[in-house]
Amino acid sequence: MLLNLGSINIDHVYRVPHLPAPGETLEAGGYAIGLGGKGANQSVAAARAGARVCHIGAVGPEAAWAREAMAGDGIDVTHIAEVAVPTGHAIITVDPAGENVIVIFPGANRSLSDRQVAAALATAGPDDTLLIQNETSAQVQAARLAVARGLRVIYSAAPFDVAAVQAVLPHVSLLVLNKVEAEALRTALGALPGVEMIVTRGAQGADWLRPGADPLHVPAFAVAAVDTVGAGDCFTGNLAAALDAGLPRHQAMRRAAAAAALQVTRPGASQAMPSAAEVTAFLA
Ligand code: ADP
Repeated sequence: MLLNLGSINIDHVYRVPHLPAPGETLEAGGYAIGLGGKGANQSVAAARAGARVCHIGAVGPEAAWAREAMAGDGIDVTHIAEVAVPTGHAIITVDPAGENVIVIFPGANRSLSDRQVAAALATAGPDDTLLIQNETSAQVQAARLAVARGLRVIYSAAPFDVAAVQAVLPHVSLLVLNKVEAEALRTALGALPGVEMIVTRGAQGADWLRPGADPLHVPAFAVAAVDTVGAGDCFTGNLAAALDAGLPRHQAMRRAAAAAALQVTRPGASQAMPSAAEVTAFLA
């Protein structure tokens, strides 16, 4: 089973002629609302990839539909608490090339408690995987508990925060970063940490780095991207699902890259996540 301690956001997506500059007021040509947040995106991606996913999260009273949408994707929502804090949300601007700029209000995502996490992990064991990102609270406690219970811990260290990374890193089996986050971490620490790590490089593919081993590079698939929001989440969700199912590294990376290639050809974040069947057909 894949347990995902993750954010749930309401995404407000605005199609803009170009990304807004400082001081600029810009009229959007399109608007859509959807389920987002790195956590929810990764849970949906992993569930559609075929994993049994239990999401650990929190939403405010106005976002029951988000919980229902996740349940509709087959995600176990038992450990998504409803709290008296506004649901996290994101203001996303997307330009015609599919590039984006995002502002996030974390809201309920930061109200997750160590106790809620402990309850969710109570029955998990060595066959299970814990996935975490930087958009909730209680990551350190979750990672510590997971290690104590023998789980694999995959950490998608985004949005990047050096203090958060340093606190979680000692408990991590696999760190997943995009190239910007990897560079920020290298700058903050003076060198990349000596842990197992995947660095994703957008259309340049991804590298799995292991101390003492040659890097494993998996190229991206050439597609016409229309919206790259959630590409990394799609990649991470599919990767976590594949590893949880016992696939070897190279196969897990290829499936993740194929899923992300499909995802960037469609608008939206979680709603654009492909199914396992689509990924298999794409790779055939
Ligand atoms: P993030 O969304 O976290 O910035 P990346 O942009 O590095 O992450 O994308 C993650 C993965 O998604 C890449 O390693 C690649 O496999 C896939 N991907 C991203 N952008 C594209 C693209 N334009 N074409 C094909 N695959 C892509």
